[in-house]
Amino acid sequence: MTYAGSCFCGAVELEVTGTPEAMGYCHCQACRSWSAAPVNAFSLWKPDAVRVTSGAEHIATFQKTPLSQRQYCTKCGGHLMTNHPTLGLVDVYAATLPTLKFVPGVHVNYVETVLPMKDGLPKLKDFPKEFGGSGEAMAE
Ligand SMILES: [Zn+2]
Ligand SMILES: [Zn+2]
Repeated sequence: MTYAGSCFCGAVELEVTGTPEAMGYCHCQACRSWSAAPVNAFSLWKPDAVRVTSGAEHIATFQKTPLSQRQYCTKCGGHLMTNHPTLGLVDVYAATLPTLKFVPGVHVNYVETVLPMKDGLPKLKDFPKEFGGSGEAMAE
């Protein structure tokens, strides 16, 4: 299955193929600040599942920390995805992929939340152990 996505203005188009490695919400301050939203809805993919199909020349990257290379469109400023080189995964924002059915499985960095979400899903204090976090769960 292939899902098409684009930036806010449409100059950058991309597609992802297959099934995401994970989907969920990140509540961290960095995601909130960059996205200007109370949470970031993520879908994580292996890099080779993600292909920019047009407008690659309009993609710029901002990197504040080694964990995240944040990619956006230089024409509209719309955010597209964040490459996590140390994890070997790319977060293509759920909002970038309108046809992908978003099925969240986990909340991460919940200790930083400004929008508690009582949906019964696991709430991790930071990241799962396999992503270098504590793997510790916390109350909603
Ligand atoms: Zn754009
Ligand atoms: Zn985050």
